[in-house]
Amino acid sequence: MIKIYNTLTRKKENFTEQEKGVVKFYCCGPTVYNCIHMGNARPICVCDVIRKYLEHKGFRVIYVQNFTDIDDKIISIANEAGTDYLTISRKYIAEYKKDARGLNVREATVHPLATENIDYMLKMISGLIDKGYAYRSVSGDVYFDVAKFKDYGKLSGQSIKDLESGARVEIDGSKRNPLDFVLWKKAKVGEPFWSSPFGDGRPGWHIECSAMIYRYLGDTVDIHFGGQDLIFPHHENEIAQSECFNGKALANYWMHNGYINVNNQKMSKSLNNFFTVREISEKYGYDVIRFFMLSSHYRSPLNYSEEVLEQCKRSLERLRTCRGNLDFLRDRSSGQKSLEAKELLNGLLEYREEFFKAMDDDFNTADAISALFNLTKKINVVVADERQVSLGFINEAIRIFDELCGILGIAFASKTGKVSKGYVEGLIQKREKARNEKNWELADALRDELKNIGVKLEDTAEGVRWSFLD
Ligand SMILES: [Zn+2]
Repeated sequence: MIKIYNTLTRKKENFTEQEKGVVKFYCCGPTVYNCIHMGNARPICVCDVIRKYLEHKGFRVIYVQNFTDIDDKIISIANEAGTDYLTISRKYIAEYKKDARGLNVREATVHPLATENIDYMLKMISGLIDKGYAYRSVSGDVYFDVAKFKDYGKLSGQSIKDLESGARVEIDGSKRNPLDFVLWKKAKVGEPFWSSPFGDGRPGWHIECSAMIYRYLGDTVDIHFGGQDLIFPHHENEIAQSECFNGKALANYWMHNGYINVNNQKMSKSLNNFFTVREISEKYGYDVIRFFMLSSHYRSPLNYSEEVLEQCKRSLERLRTCRGNLDFLRDRSSGQKSLEAKELLNGLLEYREEFFKAMDDDFNTADAISALFNLTKKINVVVADERQVSLGFINEAIRIFDELCGILGIAFASKTGKVSKGYVEGLIQKREKARNEKNWELADALRDELKNIGVKLEDTAEGVRWSFLD
C-alpha cells in the first residue's frame, strides 16, 4: 500500500485512487521566460519518479503539467527584446524540453499552454461571477471574493484573519478584501489581450491551473503537486476557484516539495543565488543533477554545494561500475550452466523489497537509493568471487538492478555513455506489455523515452526490432 503525506490533512494517508487503476496527476509547471534553475528541476524530477513508480505498480497515470506562457515577466522581457510574448514563451518551452530530456524526464501526457485554454478560464470566471464568488471592480479587473469562501486558508491551515495580518498584501482600493486575487486583468495599452464578457484583458495566474485541471482531468485530481512556496497563495487560490465553481474537492492528495538551499538560504531568483540546470549540466552532466534531486526525500530541504554534486557523481559511478561488471560477466559466462545459489538470490530480493518499502512510504527516494546501494554492495561481494557466480545470479542481478534504476530513472548509461542493451530491452518489454494491455498513453510514452535515449524501433511481423540511431 502506498502512503502519501497530504499537506491538506497534515498526515500520511493510504493512497486510494478515484477510478480503479487510474491516477489523475497534476503538477504546476514553469512560467517560461528563462531557462529553468535547479529549484525548478526538483519537482520535475520528483514527479517523474512518482509517475514511473505508480506505473510500475500497474496504474495508468494521466500526468498534466502546464506552461504559463503569458505573464508580466514574459511581456516585459519581450518588450526589452523588441519582440512579442509568443516568441519568448515558445523559445523557453523549447529550452525547458531540452533540459527535461537531459534529466530523463518523460513528457507529460498533456503539456497545456495557458493561452490555448482561455475559453475554459472564461467559463470558470463567468461561473464564479454568476454564483457570487467573483466581482468586477471599479478598475475593470475581475477579482475572487475570498470572504465568500468559508474554507479559504484550509491548505495552509490559516484563517482569513491570520493570512491578512501575515501576508504582505498591497492595499488596493478596488478590492473588497486585501486577499482578493485577480481572475481577469483589464487590458493595458501595448499588452496582448483577449476579448471577454467582462471586457478585453488577460487571465490572472491562478485561474490557469484550475481551468486546465477542469479541462484535462475533471473536477477532482488524485494528486496535485507543487513546490511548498506555492501553498499560499497559489494553491489556496486554485482550491477557492475550483471548489466554488464545481462544488467538489480539487485534489485528494496535496503534495509539496521542499526548497533547495544554498548556504542555508532558499535558492531563488529574487535572492540571486540560483544556478540554471543548463550550467550545472555542462559541468557535471544531467544524470548527476537527477541523482542529486532524488538523494533526499522530496519534502526535506536539499542542500546544494559543489561537494554534494561531486559525491553524487561518485555514487553514480559506483552504480555504473557494478552494472558494467555484470554485463562483462554475462558475456563471458553465456552458455555456461551452473547451479544458482538460492541464498544469494534471496539476498538480492531482500534489497528489492527494502527499495519498494521505501518508495511505498511517501516516495522516499533517499531510502530507496540506500537500498539500491545495499544491493550493489551485495552484488559486488558476490561477483568478486567468480566461483560463486552463476549465469542465473547474473541475470537476476541485472533484472533487479535495471528495475530499480529504471524506477528512479538513473544510471541507465554505461561508462562509455551508451545506454546498456539490457535497459533498452527492459523498456521494450514494458512497452509491449503496455500495448497488450491497451495502455496507449504508457506505450507511446515509452516509445518517446526510447527515442530520447537514441533508440529506433521497428514493429515487424516477428516482433519489435531495435537499433541505435546514428
Ligand atoms: Zn498551479
